[in-house]
Amino acid sequence: MSSFQALRFHERGDVRLDKVTPLPCGSDEVRIRTAFCGVCGTDLKEYTAGPIMVPSPDTPRAQTGASLPVILGHEFSGTVTEVGSGNSNFKPGDRVAVKPNMADAQLGTPACSMCEGGKSNLCTSTAYYGLDALSGGFSEQAVVKTSNIFKLPDSVSLELGALVEPLSVAWHMVHSSGFQPGQDALVLGAGPIGLGLLLVLKVIGARRVIVSEVLEKRSAQAVAFGADTVINPTSTSDPTKGSSSSNPVVREAQEMTPGNLGVHVSFDASGLQATLDTAIAATRPGGTIFNVAIHSKSLLINPNDLLFLEKKFTAGIAYTAEDYSAVISALEKNADFAEKAKKMITSVVPLEDAVEKAFKGLLEKKEDHIKILVRGSRD
Ligand SMILES: [Zn+2]
Repeated sequence: MSSFQALRFHERGDVRLDKVTPLPCGSDEVRIRTAFCGVCGTDLKEYTAGPIMVPSPDTPRAQTGASLPVILGHEFSGTVTEVGSGNSNFKPGDRVAVKPNMADAQLGTPACSMCEGGKSNLCTSTAYYGLDALSGGFSEQAVVKTSNIFKLPDSVSLELGALVEPLSVAWHMVHSSGFQPGQDALVLGAGPIGLGLLLVLKVIGARRVIVSEVLEKRSAQAVAFGADTVINPTSTSDPTKGSSSSNPVVREAQEMTPGNLGVHVSFDASGLQATLDTAIAATRPGGTIFNVAIHSKSLLINPNDLLFLEKKFTAGIAYTAEDYSAVISALEKNADFAEKAKKMITSVVPLEDAVEKAFKGLLEKKEDHIKILVRGSRD
C-alpha cells in the first residue's frame, strides 16, 4: 500500500504535511478514507503551546504506542475502505463519524470502574485519535477501532459527520447538567461549543436561551441559531422591571424568567472570571452552574454564593457512545437542527492548506469563523 499524506505535530509551532506509511488494519479495526475533519481549539492550543495532550518527546503514550510526530485532528468523518477480519457490522462504502476517545474496551486493558459504570469518557486509560494515538483526522486515511465509528444515515452528509464530535460535547454537557425541557438556560460565549450548546438546548425543548457574547459576528450567529436574547456583557442600560443587578446579563436572565429568579442552568463556555461570576449570579436558587471551558489559570469562587441559595457548580468532559448516537439521530430526524448545524461550517480547506488557511485563519480571524473543516481525501 502506498504512503499517504497527513498533517503531523512535530513540536510547538511545527505542524506540517508528511508522507506517512499506512498502518495495518487489525481484526477489530476499519480503515477509512477521511472525508472532513474540523479544527478544534485543542488543535490550535497544541500548535501554539503544545505538546499538551500529544505525547512529549521523551514519553510515548503507552496505551497506543504513539510518539512524536503524531497526526492531529479528532473531529472527523469518512468512508470505510477496509474492514478487519473480526468485523461484521461494517462494510466498505459505509459513511461514518469517528468518536475519537478510546477507553479500556478499545485499548485492550481491563475495564476500570468508570468504564464499568458506563462513563467511558472518564476512563483512567483514555487516549484520543488525533492527539495521542497512531491515527488522526487531518489525513487522507485513518485506521480506527470498529467501536469508535458510527454509521451516518443517508440524510446526514459527511460534512455534518465531522460536526458530530463538537455537537456530542454539547449534547453531553446539556444532559450531564440535568437540564430539562421547558427550563431556561444561559450560555456564556458563542464560539463553536457555545453555539453547539444553544442548538442542543433548543433541540431538547428549552423555554428560553439567553446568550452572552462580546463579538458582534458571533452575537449575530447566536441570533440566527435561535437564541431568545443575545446580550453584550459590556453593554450598559438601566435596570428595568424586576432586577436590580448592574450586570446586563444577570439582569436579562432575571427579567426573562418567572419570578425574576434567573435561569435553571448557566453554561460557562468562556472560562473567564467575569463569565464565572455572571454564571453564578444569573442562576436561580437551587440551579446549576455548569463549566464547559478549559481554563489556563485558576479562578476564584466564594462558596457562600453557592451555599446560601443551594446553587451547584459542576463540569463535564467529552462524550460517550450514547451521546454520539443521540446526536446522529437528532441530525437525521430534526431538519432544523441539521440545517443550523451545517451553518456552523464557515469554510472548507484542502489538507495542504490546513496550516495556512485553517490553523492560522482561526488564530488570526477567530470572529470570521465558527468551524473550519479540512478535507481529508480528494476522492
Ligand atoms: Zn476505563
